[in-house]
Amino acid sequence: MAWDFETDPEFQKKLDWIEDFMREEVEPLSELGRAIMGQHGREMFIKPLQEKVKEQGLWACHLGPELGGQGYGQLKLALMNEKLGRNRLAPSIFGCQAPDTGNAEIIAHYGTEEQKEKWLKPLLNGDIRSAFSMSEPTGGSDPLTFKTRAVLEGDEWVINGEKWFTSGAYGSTILIVYAVTDPDAPDPYKRTSIFIVPTNTPGVEIVRGVHTGSGQAEGPGGHGYMRYTNVRVPYSALLGERGGAFVIAQTRLGGGRVHHAMRTVGACQRALDLMCKRAVSRTTRDGKLADLQMVQADIADSWIQLEMFRLLVLRTAWLIDKHKDYNLVRKDIAAIKVAMPKVYHDIATKAAHLHGALGVSNEMPFMGMVTSAMVMGIADGPTEVHKVTVAKQVLKDYRPNNDLFPSYHIPRLREEARERFKDKLDELKSAYQTRGGERAPETA
Ligand SMILES: Cc1cc2nc3c(=O)[nH]c(=O)nc-3n(C[C@H](O)[C@H](O)[C@H](O)COP(=O)(O)OP(=O)(O)OC[C@H]3O[C@@H](n4cnc5c(N)ncnc54)[C@H](O)[C@@H]3O)c2cc1C
Repeated sequence: MAWDFETDPEFQKKLDWIEDFMREEVEPLSELGRAIMGQHGREMFIKPLQEKVKEQGLWACHLGPELGGQGYGQLKLALMNEKLGRNRLAPSIFGCQAPDTGNAEIIAHYGTEEQKEKWLKPLLNGDIRSAFSMSEPTGGSDPLTFKTRAVLEGDEWVINGEKWFTSGAYGSTILIVYAVTDPDAPDPYKRTSIFIVPTNTPGVEIVRGVHTGSGQAEGPGGHGYMRYTNVRVPYSALLGERGGAFVIAQTRLGGGRVHHAMRTVGACQRALDLMCKRAVSRTTRDGKLADLQMVQADIADSWIQLEMFRLLVLRTAWLIDKHKDYNLVRKDIAAIKVAMPKVYHDIATKAAHLHGALGVSNEMPFMGMVTSAMVMGIADGPTEVHKVTVAKQVLKDYRPNNDLFPSYHIPRLREEARERFKDKLDELKSAYQTRGGERAPETA
């Protein structure tokens, strides 16, 4: 019996440290907003906190020890990420900020020694930032619709095309660019390749930075609308095999989706905490909000929804640790990707509602949470696509039954049972008869 829902005491100490650090250092700092995001702001405010995390051995914990991480595995990472998920700044302070995490993962897996030396080390150390340039304005993130081309001219690749929502493009040192290299390859999944392109290469242009959410936001948004015009990179900029982009991208996205889900548990927990704090504080003529049954129903539903989601995330993390293969766990990963936006949306919306006008104002975090929940239903592939994955994986274990009535048709099951237990039923019948004519029950 290896089922266990307890955290080992040594690791609990780490979690306690993270809890205090989040409350005392990270959460207050995040209230400074954009002031800490520029280069000087990062040096002054973020770097010192990153150093404290490194001293605790908690830096980049998604990585194995061979890459400087702790090799805790996904289950422990899930427990950590729940705490980090409460605050948007936390991942960059703990060295697990997307898209750098996924980009580092694929360079570690598929990069040459030269690529690792040049890009992986500074990326893992938090010295440079990166962005992932895959989705296109015309066809979203379906690689079979991509138009961006990379053509080999001599020993250089020449890249032309447009990309959409390249998160973190501003401030990035390298872009991981997905382009069609072999349009005539018979296998459509082998037509695209991935390149490491320094952001300052001539021909790389950020047309504009797009924000999520509504209204006129301050400064350029974090998601780059990119244009690549005759961007020349050496042959060695190719990451992994020519035509291998599809497999590489899947490696990257599997881990990313799980880590988002782990942090979303924390974000949902925060929304629920705030909802409960408001419920016990706000008074109406009928007493506290917490005394009203419909409010209680919302709180109960939110707690149950969160707990179910959390268990699904933790079990998926446990499965990844067990199989060490994202592909084998793809049904579970797709399932948490589907559940994540709905659970977050439901809890954040209820929390906003319970705060009344204050809840829907820009003086509370809830509208940002609701937008984030919607983003989660789109980024890394829309919910529908992941539902299809879950359904296909579930259905693959079932075989058709071509009889007129299904194999579980009750008259058929009854007939089969009668046939199977015929001897015993005959014995039973005669037992009733010998007891003086008592009638045997109908089913017998
Ligand atoms: C905040 C954020 C950050 C992002 N960061 C990055 C990044 O760093 N790098 C990057 O390359 N991309 C990034 N993306 C892009 C993201 O991967 C795409 O937005 C996503 O894959 C969906 O593509 P799309 O926006 O073109 O929507 P579309 O593909 O046009 O889909 C729109 C809608 O159509 C429906 N739909 C689409 N396909 C199907 C289907 N197969 N079955 C049923 N219904 C379907 C769904 O309702 C879907 O929501 C980011 C997106 C967001 C919102």
